[in-house]
Amino acid sequence: MNHHSSICGMEIQSVPESDQKELAQLIHNRLLLNQLPADPGLSSRLAIYLSLLDTWNSRLDLTAVLDPEEAVDRHFIDSLSVLSTGLTDHAIRIADIGTGAGFPGLVLAMACPEKQFTLLDAQQKRLAFLKTVCDATNTRNVTLLHLRAEDGGRSPELRDTFDLAVARAVAPLNVLCELVLPFVKPGGFMIAWKGPALSQEYEDGVYAAEKLGAQVKDALPCPVAGRDWDHRLLPIHKLRSTPSAYPRRSGLPKVSPLRQNHP
Ligand code: SAM
Repeated sequence: MNHHSSICGMEIQSVPESDQKELAQLIHNRLLLNQLPADPGLSSRLAIYLSLLDTWNSRLDLTAVLDPEEAVDRHFIDSLSVLSTGLTDHAIRIADIGTGAGFPGLVLAMACPEKQFTLLDAQQKRLAFLKTVCDATNTRNVTLLHLRAEDGGRSPELRDTFDLAVARAVAPLNVLCELVLPFVKPGGFMIAWKGPALSQEYEDGVYAAEKLGAQVKDALPCPVAGRDWDHRLLPIHKLRSTPSAYPRRSGLPKVSPLRQNHP
C-alpha cells in the first residue's frame, strides 16, 4: 500500500511499500545501535514519517538533510536521545515549542504512546504536514497548535500546565527560556537541545532562566553512534510560576532578548 497525502488540494503519493520496509529496517538498526527502544511498530511508523518528510520537503522546506541515514540520525535518533536521560520518565503532559516538522515532539510521541504531546508552531503549513503524519501513522496522543509561543504562553489553558516542555533549534537560550518556560508547571522541566553554540549563549541563558523563576542544570551529552556531533541536552528546572510580565508580546523576546546588563 502507498500512503497518500494532500497539500493545497494536490494529491501527493509517497514511496512504495518495499522502500518503506527498507527504511524501517534502517531505522530499526539505528535504534538498536543507539540503545533506544527498537520496537518494530515504531520503526514502521517512523519509516512512513520519513517518506512523507521526503515527499513534502520540496514544497515546505522541512529539512536540509536529504540522505536517509543522516535524516534518521539527525531527526529521529537525536529526538529520542532524551529517553536515555530519565528526564522524560515521569512527565505525562509534554509540549514541543517550535516543533517545525515534528522534532523532537512527534518522534517522542510515537515512541511514548502513554504520554500526551502538544506540538506548537507559528507556521500553519508545518502543522498540516504534522497532521498528515499523525493520520498516516495512527498517532493519537498528539494535539497540534498553530500559535506563536508568546501567545500560547499567555493562554490560561496552556500556561504553567506542562510537566515538561522541549525545544530544538528554535532560538538562542535566553530567547528560548522566555518562549518555553511559561508553558511548564512549577516543579517541571524544560529541555533545550543545543549544539556547540551553547557556550556563547550560556550566561545570558542562565540570567533569563533565573529572571523567569527557573534554574539551569548541568548539560547532558547526547551522542549519536558513529557521528561526532556536539549535541547536548540542557535541562532547566522551573521553580516558580512565570512572572506575569512574561512572555512579552509577540516578537519582543527575539528583538529585545533578556540579557545580563540589559534587563
Ligand atoms: N524544532 C524543529 C527541529 O528541530 O527541526 C524545527 C526547528 S525550525 C529551525 C524553528 C521552528 O520554530 C520553525 O518551525 C518556526 O516556525 C518555529 N518558531 C520560531 N519562533 C516561534 C515562535 N515564537 N512561536 C512559535 N513557533 C516558532
